[in-house]
Amino acid sequence: MPGYELIGTEEAEAVADVFRNGGILFRHGFDGLRNGSYKVTEFEQAFADKLGTVDALAVTSGTAALRVALATLRLPAGSRVLIPSFTFVATAEAVIESGCVPVCIDIDETLNMDPSRLAVALDGDCGAVIVVHMLGTPARLPEIVELCDTAGVPLIEDAAWGCGGSLLGKPLGTWGRMGCFSFDFAKTMTTGEGGMVVFRDTADAKFARAWHDHGHENNPSLPRWEDSRNSSGFNFRMTELQGAVGIAQLNKLDAIVTAQRLAHEEIRANLQGLPEITVREEPYGSESTCDALIVLVESPKVARHCRQALMARGGGTKILPEAVTWHFAAHWDHMPELTRQHGEALLNAFPQSAELLARSVAIPISATGSGLSADGIREALIEGTSRT
Ligand SMILES: *Cc1c(COP(=O)(O)O)cnc(C)c1O
Repeated sequence: MPGYELIGTEEAEAVADVFRNGGILFRHGFDGLRNGSYKVTEFEQAFADKLGTVDALAVTSGTAALRVALATLRLPAGSRVLIPSFTFVATAEAVIESGCVPVCIDIDETLNMDPSRLAVALDGDCGAVIVVHMLGTPARLPEIVELCDTAGVPLIEDAAWGCGGSLLGKPLGTWGRMGCFSFDFAKTMTTGEGGMVVFRDTADAKFARAWHDHGHENNPSLPRWEDSRNSSGFNFRMTELQGAVGIAQLNKLDAIVTAQRLAHEEIRANLQGLPEITVREEPYGSESTCDALIVLVESPKVARHCRQALMARGGGTKILPEAVTWHFAAHWDHMPELTRQHGEALLNAFPQSAELLARSVAIPISATGSGLSADGIREALIEGTSRT
């Protein structure tokens, strides 16, 4: 569960510091009035250092991060962008907003993009692939990276849930050409609203930095109105208040993820010996953020019974099964871009994903020990799987 559980005096202090230093809420300029305080810049540098990337660009949301990453690829209008069928609507929205066409790929037992299904859909004419690490568990990145490299198609990671996770020792968000993070209020670390793009190439970073700021190239020796520009752009700038909170939250990221992993392991170990339950598969070498523990049960009916049994004990579920409509493309018939691609009968368009998701139960993990105990969860799942 999210960084909001751990918002405290550190974040309040960081914001107060902005006001102590002239109350300059804008990331650029006002140099004489801010006493050297540039919170967004400091947050970006700390984030890039943490992930070991050449640069990081703070933006207003995770959705904006995806939009900026797609803009940076400068794809021709109408390009196909391949995304998993199980993700938050934002992934598809960013593709549509970029003038491209989202094409959804089935998921496998990791509940992330299935490389064997990607292999069928991917060709050199695709504009990009966006891989998602749902609820903090890495997708099968080595296979997906190889497929993209072979096809010559850029890979973007939607690491909205992946902040603090890694695969084979390499942080999530750094496997693709660009990685996108969300700091919305439900994510592992939060700035209220906010996001970040991390880069492998300095040329991408330079283009994205200007594009998210109306094309301003921010020449250090010039006043802002004399900045050079080489492209149009938009405004996705983060404010200094968010930057200040982001620094404080980033300092807590390791502790949040460690606490989540411990809680996840305790619950998982306590579920051993229950034959009706299969824990979601993780690729070899996964260091999940453990935002949720997902179990697969026999049928959609059993999944609902498990949710009811968890709720009856004061617990609950997260996204699966109750909020799947916002996270599974089969339900997005409000997006004509999708129905044009996959047909009006969207509900039947992703059978492999539908079968897996309908019998998945996601148990939220708390970083502070709130919520049901491991024993309570075990009892609830025993009750849910044995009800007829
Ligand atoms: C949260 C989320 C986003 C969007 O992030 P916002 O900061 O809420 O705009 C994008 N993709 C996925 C997979 C998400 O979970």
